[in-house]
Amino acid sequence: MSDLLALLGARIPANLAPFMLASVTAPAVRGVPHGPDVLARRLGCPCGSWELKLRTARRRERRGLFGRKTVAAPVAPVHAACPVCGREVLLFDPAQHGWHGRHGDGVRPRADDEAWFANAAGEVVVAYAYRAEDAYRAMLADGCPDPQDWFDCFAIVFRAAGAQPLLVLSEEPYRRLDR
Ligand SMILES: [Zn+2]
Repeated sequence: MSDLLALLGARIPANLAPFMLASVTAPAVRGVPHGPDVLARRLGCPCGSWELKLRTARRRERRGLFGRKTVAAPVAPVHAACPVCGREVLLFDPAQHGWHGRHGDGVRPRADDEAWFANAAGEVVVAYAYRAEDAYRAMLADGCPDPQDWFDCFAIVFRAAGAQPLLVLSEEPYRRLDR
């Protein structure tokens, strides 16, 4: 772990501040950033529950041969809700959070509706990173008060009891312009 990652990783991004956090290894799920520069945290509710429900916006997308199949894909924003105490908070909105969100040019995806990601509560893990190292070093040198909020990739993984972990969404706003 670089000194930069150690420094930023010791600070909590504002969107994770409402949660209890436990450091974990990044889930081996396709689409989740991985490597020694990735921070992964399991989220818990301050009431003590480590099982949460997720509610996401959804966008209808055509998939399959000739686009005949329509699926509802989860998109941001994502809210997390505690089934024990009923507390619900915004977990991630690219219009507010991360590199572009903090710059004020983050884009909230077009959505058709919203829904619970799964019927039951489960384990919620977020993985994020600060990969534009030079940019963060410059921010720190300039006295930026909240470089931890400017993460440049962010992913959410949900795992129901006894099931495989599933990617909820993965954002790499820093690289979005390249795609
Ligand atoms: Zn709770």
